Amino acid sequence: MKSTLKILLLILLVVESSSLMAQQAPLLQVIRSEIKGINIFGKPVDQQTRCQHWHSDLDIIAIKFHCCDKYYPCFSCHEETADHSPSVWPKAEFDTKAILCGVCGTELSITDYQNSNNTCPNCKSAFNPGCSKHYHLYFETDSSKK
Ligand SMILES: [Zn+2]
Ligand SMILES: [Zn+2]
Ligand SMILES: [Zn+2]
Repeated sequence: MKSTLKILLLILLVVESSSLMAQQAPLLQVIRSEIKGINIFGKPVDQQTRCQHWHSDLDIIAIKFHCCDKYYPCFSCHEETADHSPSVWPKAEFDTKAILCGVCGTELSITDYQNSNNTCPNCKSAFNPGCSKHYHLYFETDSSKK
């Protein structure tokens, strides 16, 4: 009796996890994402830098990584597709253009981006304000120094 129950539970688990996968399937990765000649790496799903991890209306920026000088839509994209660990931009290099607006293709420096009030200075599109919670993944912060 006990083992039958275990098998039943196992079947339930398998069914559950396969239906979860089916729900995620419609978000297909695009073969190539490029904005004004700038290639977006990782797992983009459209031509405005949205990716399999972040794809709301507001997720329209890509970040150039300090380690490889390539634009990725997000940290997870880099983690899953790059063959190295990421490094963050040191404060001394915050004037480097490393943020790409997926709507108009404007490149912002890290300082410009941090002062942008989450709005593209060129096309006025709104950026996801939640990105600021992840600054430490991309940029040197006071807490990452410790
Ligand atoms: Zn990298
Ligand atoms: Zn991503
Ligand atoms: Zn823009």
